[in-house]
Amino acid sequence: MADTFLLNGKEMPFTQGQMILEAARNGGIEIPTLCYLKGSTPTGACRVCCVEVKGARSLVAACSTPVTAGMEVFTSSESVRKARKLNVELLLSSGSHNCLACEKSGDCRLQDLARQCRLDEVRFEADAGKYPVEKDNPFIIRDFSRCILCGRCVQACNEVVVNRAISFGYRGAASKIVTGGDVPYNESECVFCGQCLEACPVGALMEKKASGLGRPWETQKIRTTCPYCGVGCQQLLHVKDGKIIKVTAVEDAQPNQGRLCVKGRFAYDFIYSEERLKTPLIREKNGEFREASWDEALDLVATKFKEIIKKDGPDAIAGVSCARSINEDSYQMQKLFRAVIGTNNIDHCART
Ligand code: SF4
Ligand code: SF4
Repeated sequence: MADTFLLNGKEMPFTQGQMILEAARNGGIEIPTLCYLKGSTPTGACRVCCVEVKGARSLVAACSTPVTAGMEVFTSSESVRKARKLNVELLLSSGSHNCLACEKSGDCRLQDLARQCRLDEVRFEADAGKYPVEKDNPFIIRDFSRCILCGRCVQACNEVVVNRAISFGYRGAASKIVTGGDVPYNESECVFCGQCLEACPVGALMEKKASGLGRPWETQKIRTTCPYCGVGCQQLLHVKDGKIIKVTAVEDAQPNQGRLCVKGRFAYDFIYSEERLKTPLIREKNGEFREASWDEALDLVATKFKEIIKKDGPDAIAGVSCARSINEDSYQMQKLFRAVIGTNNIDHCART
């Protein structure tokens, strides 16, 4: 028989070692949190997931408190609601949280929580922060004045993608998320996978290329498979007016489980390049290329193949298909080489 505990008066099962937040989620009760990052070590940094446990001297962080059999937990008692509201208020006063000017507005967990807690005003004086915005790299804007020091970026970098490029630095009011030596991202160990960006719940880390291009509610999210390599990572294209403005990973989907590499996340501009080839090109005797129709180009290739096979046999020809091709195209390519041309010289550039 499964162990149980009482959640808001209702009996719930849990597994040994499970934290209150996870056990509640499994039971369909969402406890708000800003710092919890699924799959990484809970830190209890934001204190927004505070809950009341009968018999405990104070409220506890649900993300980092293990459930025990018979434990009685209350997720929205008056003391919980008051403490949660105060924590959100303190976070809002910990930096510059001007939602009107923030690109994250509409997709910001702190903003959502303020609304959820019915927080109409912030009574404390806002601390605009002491660190300048970092824009030196082509991909990620770091706005320290919006950072709530939840640590999700650090967890994502160190535990999810294991790049270990960032950590907490300095102390007290001077605390900051830093790279080794506190240098800008582009001078650090950062590989620009953007996992920190994906994890940030507020506007402290933002996609540089998406800046000013559209609000979250103006974009359509289209799920697709990354076109770069054979891994097949699942991604969401954020599209506004028919144009991709940013790319994020699909959470919980195989094979990437919410991760993307620098190419999959940031290198989508090529589809709009004026330099893309749109028609076949045939090289003339003088070395210059000229545009040709598909029929003309394919006839020329077939003629040349026949000439080579006649002179040197089919093994004088080899084919390499593209890793971006779909399975069906790759299958047809090997069929063409094995069954039509008559050689096993066929490969696939499956570099990742
Ligand atoms: S982009 Fe990737 S490597 Fe760089 S700090 Fe963020 S998570 Fe770490
Ligand atoms: S940059 Fe974002 S994810 Fe990282 S600590 Fe600050 S608010 Fe949290």
